[in-house]
Amino acid sequence: MSKEKIFIFDTTLRDGAQTEGVNFSIDDKNKIAKALSNLGVDYLEGGWPGANTLDTTFFNKPPKLENTILTAFGMTKKAGRSAENDPGLSALLNTNAPAICLVGKSWDFHVDVALGITKEENLENIKESAKLFIKNKKEFMFDAEHFFDGYKKNPEYALACIKTAFDEGARWIVLCDTNGGTLPNEIGEIVSKVSKQIPGKNLGIHAHNDTENAVANSLTAVLAGVRQVQGTINGLGERCGNANLISLIPSLTLKKSFSDNFEIKIKKDKVKTLTECSRLLDEILNRKSNRRAAYVGPSAFAHKGGLHVSAVSKDPKTYEHIDPSLVGNVRNIIVSDQAGKSNIMSRLNKYGIKIDKNDPKVQTLLTEVKDREFIGYSYDGADASFELLARRIMGEIPKYITIHMYDVTVKKSASGEIISSAKAQLEVDKKLSICEGEGNGPVNALDNAIRNNIDNLGKYSKYLKDLKLVDYKVRILNTGTNATTRVSIESTDREGKSWFHQTLLKLHLRH
Ligand SMILES: [Zn+2]
Repeated sequence: MSKEKIFIFDTTLRDGAQTEGVNFSIDDKNKIAKALSNLGVDYLEGGWPGANTLDTTFFNKPPKLENTILTAFGMTKKAGRSAENDPGLSALLNTNAPAICLVGKSWDFHVDVALGITKEENLENIKESAKLFIKNKKEFMFDAEHFFDGYKKNPEYALACIKTAFDEGARWIVLCDTNGGTLPNEIGEIVSKVSKQIPGKNLGIHAHNDTENAVANSLTAVLAGVRQVQGTINGLGERCGNANLISLIPSLTLKKSFSDNFEIKIKKDKVKTLTECSRLLDEILNRKSNRRAAYVGPSAFAHKGGLHVSAVSKDPKTYEHIDPSLVGNVRNIIVSDQAGKSNIMSRLNKYGIKIDKNDPKVQTLLTEVKDREFIGYSYDGADASFELLARRIMGEIPKYITIHMYDVTVKKSASGEIISSAKAQLEVDKKLSICEGEGNGPVNALDNAIRNNIDNLGKYSKYLKDLKLVDYKVRILNTGTNATTRVSIESTDREGKSWFHQTLLKLHLRH
């Protein structure tokens, strides 16, 4: 039996752009559009031309998309004017976008309160708007706003709205859970009823995540009949976000109950790029990745407990629901105090360090990690520090740069300005040099001190030049004026590789 096709519709650039604190530039939009087209989504909603300069500019010079249909978003015509004379609709017609997704009301409460027009006028607006685009040979979709809330209150009217658009020739009727409050059981029930009136091959789902069910609601809608799923990368979107395509795509392609019956255009080799795609958006937004993101988060395949780790080493299926490489993610074995030798061995393996598990150096490393964790280090998140420690104990690390001393002071001036200054003495190839710098806080001052004198670091300076401090966290481990402080630092280089390291500082606080 041939599989039924599910179409993937991405709205990161339209609904995703509604997120608090998100302001895409035109470059960002082009970069994201290219990544999505490369991934292979069926539709890409680029924005709302005519509503703002950014979106108009984007549609004036849209990026070249391969096999992905550029879609422009807009709203049904206003009451009291013809579709031909509606400036909003003209702006959409003037784009080269082959598909148009028009939002319109399907909840009578919104027609009365938000629009203040009669129910008949709203139906007329839907009908005339649909007619205009279909006449102009656009692929037309009707986004039925608040469809599920509308259906619960007045099913006849909600159905009349979508049937009006469908009877005019809409390719897709998209059922929207705009407020995101509908639960999976209700979605299943309502979609089943609707698909008796409009064929599932013409239905789509647009779910919001206000009950954390946007992905579940989308999957349920597919099982109940819809064949188009709308969502965003990383679930970006206003309030609690939209349905997360980064979780939906692997569930549709890797889970048997879906993959046996359905197919999507995104094939296995592209599913493998999902982790990269998710991180690209974080990078564009300058956000830290969500460690616990399903499928693609750095913790999604992280194992800590000794028992788990030893089982995973025998067969990863014991504690993993899929092979992480299928979505481009990696297994992460976390070394912790409760872990045994098997943790250490798995982790050494990950860094390509070849050593026999009975070599006494493995026990030395384990003891060292445990001792260090006892005084406050935590190697859970500090991969780079663990690797350095391991290589040092294995005797693989030469002396690159020696830090003989450093001195950091924090001063408050009479005007209230707080300045940190740092001085450090380094040795490279038997040559001593003094580095000095100021900064906003002690870590920044030390970073600047090294950076200001980077050319004195001889043959290593070229490796250090493009290093950037991304983030650091400070944690006081014990209270009192003689506090031990753990500083966790994230760094990155020009190629976007990032790593975590850690150090303990003694802070002497005086009141
Ligand atoms: Zn939405």
